[in-house]
Amino acid sequence: MAIEIPGDLLPADGRFGCGPSKVRPAQLEALLSSGATILGTSHRQAPVKNLVGSVREQLAALFRVPEGYEILVGNGGSTAFWDAAAFGLIEHRSQNLVFGEFGGKFAASAGAPWLDAPDVRKAEPGSRTAAEIVEGVDVYAWPHNETSTGVAAPVERVHADGALTVIDATSAAGGIDFDVTQADVYYFAPQKNLGSDGGLWFAAVSPAAIERIERIAASGRYIPEFLSLKNAVDNSRLNQTLNTPALTTLHLLDSQLSWILGNGGLAWAAGRTAESSTVLYDWAEASAVATPFVADADHRSPVVVTIDFDESIDAASIAKTLRANGIVDTEPYRKLGRNQLRVATFVSIEPDDVRQLTRALDYVLENQGA
Ligand SMILES: *Cc1c(COP(=O)(O)O)cnc(C)c1O
Repeated sequence: MAIEIPGDLLPADGRFGCGPSKVRPAQLEALLSSGATILGTSHRQAPVKNLVGSVREQLAALFRVPEGYEILVGNGGSTAFWDAAAFGLIEHRSQNLVFGEFGGKFAASAGAPWLDAPDVRKAEPGSRTAAEIVEGVDVYAWPHNETSTGVAAPVERVHADGALTVIDATSAAGGIDFDVTQADVYYFAPQKNLGSDGGLWFAAVSPAAIERIERIAASGRYIPEFLSLKNAVDNSRLNQTLNTPALTTLHLLDSQLSWILGNGGLAWAAGRTAESSTVLYDWAEASAVATPFVADADHRSPVVVTIDFDESIDAASIAKTLRANGIVDTEPYRKLGRNQLRVATFVSIEPDDVRQLTRALDYVLENQGA
């Protein structure tokens, strides 16, 4: 018999997944009320182009980009961006910091046959590694937040001559404060902290990154049209994409950006994710059966919290019980294979709902197997 968690211990919204993640009801209402002028209309006409323009402007405002930085958009999500980067951003060789699945996936793309084998710097899941300047490396890449493990890494430029600092911000963007001038490319898909849907990638890019993109595109290297960053630069400047973008994704993202900016922008968002994640880390530290997976408190992500349980507890069955009670997607990253829960504390998630989650967890732990 599944445990029934009393209603007064349940969060108002039970979505704690790390992606796709909670979409706020207000975004869905905005989609219903103003989506009709967008959905089902041509992406080559003003309403959709204006929407793309609004998203680009709001992203520029959110990241406080300096003069010369541009916001790019393309189809295919962050996974497509990795291949686009292998074709059009890495000149000869990248250095990839790998401390989880997503960093590893970019490293795999960077192993394309026309490039020199990437310099892969691995760290055990739950820890992280830092960039080191190596002769001949022209892209230094790592995730701002490794979603598979809950480890965050600082965005700090690698001061190697002519090299680009390229940051995967898929789950960090809009939830962790940072200085965009420390990166040449800060790319992400919007279905995580930005509470939208999948299918698109965005990137804030520096003048040096644009110059690199233009140079490789002119070099004669074979680049498929769909994965061409030069094409993305040209189209983005016109608030366009090569082929049809996901209009719902754009609409949900636009309203989410307005909400974050209206509340105070990145500093506000970062304060909120810090509040929520601290609730969970404190809960795990105080628990007799749980501990934060990321041992070094400085490396702990404010947007993705991973909690290990000791052998006496079956975390998978806790996640199952939570799911049966409407608290969903607290399972760990599937390939990590730990006795763990993973909880998103993205900006859309109410800190009070995170507090309720800890009460629900306490209830399940007290009653599981009783
Ligand atoms: C989810 C995620 C991705 C993959 O994003 P897609 O849009 O599904 O391709 C890449 N990097 C990180 C850090 C992620 O969290």
